[in-house]
Amino acid sequence: MRTLIRNAAWSILWDGAAHAYANGRDILIEGGRIAAITPHAAAPFDGEIIDAAGMLAMPGLVNIHAHPTTEPGMRGVREDHGVPEQQMTGLFERSQAYRLDEAGREAAMRLAYAELMAAGVTSLVDLTAPFPAWMRVMRDSGLRVWAGPGFASAQWGMTAPQTVTWNWDAQAGQRGFRAAQSLMDEAEADPSGRLSAIVFPAQIDTVEEELLREAAALAHDRGRPFTIHIAQAVVEVREIIRRHNRTPIQWAAEIGLLSPTTVLGHCIFLDEHPSIGWHTRADLGLLAEHGVAVAHCPTPFARYGEQLRDFGTYRARGVRMGMGTDCAPHNLIEEMRLAILLARGQRHDLAAADTAMVFHAATVGGAAALGRPDLGRLAPGMAADLVLVDCAHPLMVPARDPLRSLVHHAAERAVKRVIVGGETVWRDGRPTRYDVGNAAGILAESQARALRDAAGRDYLGRDGDAITPLSLAMMA
Ligand SMILES: [Zn+2]
Repeated sequence: MRTLIRNAAWSILWDGAAHAYANGRDILIEGGRIAAITPHAAAPFDGEIIDAAGMLAMPGLVNIHAHPTTEPGMRGVREDHGVPEQQMTGLFERSQAYRLDEAGREAAMRLAYAELMAAGVTSLVDLTAPFPAWMRVMRDSGLRVWAGPGFASAQWGMTAPQTVTWNWDAQAGQRGFRAAQSLMDEAEADPSGRLSAIVFPAQIDTVEEELLREAAALAHDRGRPFTIHIAQAVVEVREIIRRHNRTPIQWAAEIGLLSPTTVLGHCIFLDEHPSIGWHTRADLGLLAEHGVAVAHCPTPFARYGEQLRDFGTYRARGVRMGMGTDCAPHNLIEEMRLAILLARGQRHDLAAADTAMVFHAATVGGAAALGRPDLGRLAPGMAADLVLVDCAHPLMVPARDPLRSLVHHAAERAVKRVIVGGETVWRDGRPTRYDVGNAAGILAESQARALRDAAGRDYLGRDGDAITPLSLAMMA
């Protein structure tokens, strides 16, 4: 199968060290890989031709932290929600109160995958508590997916706004780990070749030390990346300090979790973060020293009034940065824009982050974190994962600098086509491989059930409308 992307007005190509612009290029794809990139020539071609006149051809984005199976179900619920007694995070309260059923989770996933493609994602780390339809939807999508089936030895519980408890069940953790291993094997054996696995003990505070060590050893032995939630809430950091007299990052380093194939979501609350203010000031240095990648997801934390401090400083101190979405919307382009603006606001400094830096993080940064130097860049020999952007879209013009137009103005609105391994998986507003169908209707019903059933799970017996009221009152 040969495909020619013909006469792209603009391309973002990899020059061996960095992304660079080129005008008027033909990109030849053979066997799912980029075979050649040449100045446009009007020669006959006997394969599929994709006319890219007026388009920007750029590498597909790499999203290294997302929860597509649950987060669309929080639309209209979590955007203004937080618990002041837990320094604003709403994570623990929501995760106790709200559970989407399996029909809702499958629908959420179908919607989220379409949303991911719409914003140019071709590689995705999908982190979830596994359920039967999960791998099927992943496979149907045509995306390149790292399946991260989560496991944990403890469940969070809340009995009051100022109290989180950890309910330990070591056997459940081991069972979850075994189930995760067979799912990871299944993903890697998938004939599509597009599914991979990432070892995912869910949170640094919910997995016992022995299981964390086993999980890291498995990742090492099987050549899989490893990921975990860490430094994502003040409550978590204080708890780990209470248990171990060191921060989560320091403890993770001590027990061998930090390596160049470790992806950490989210590394917000480091020892020097003002919401922590712990005396050591060692965390950033440890992240850099061990070569871990940070999955930077600005939106969920910005909603609580919290931020990573800051993108440019982490980078300048030698920390490898990648980008993720974490919550809905799964719009990695808008996350890039937010990452720039928040970093500049933090530092009062234009140089704290710029368009090229975050684009690097959202492409080669993520690809490196997953151990895939053939992704996130366009050059001969690389995987043919591309995005075509309409440079004539009103929000792109004047397309003097199309990457700036995309990141700061148009975002997903100008994305026309998404290609994975040479195959178009998203085109003109919809996935080509699967039908989103009635996913929206199914998800709305499932969300309504979750909000209603919250009354039986919440520590104050509240339903969803009491925990997370509508943004406006209903008129009488
Ligand atoms: Zn997450």
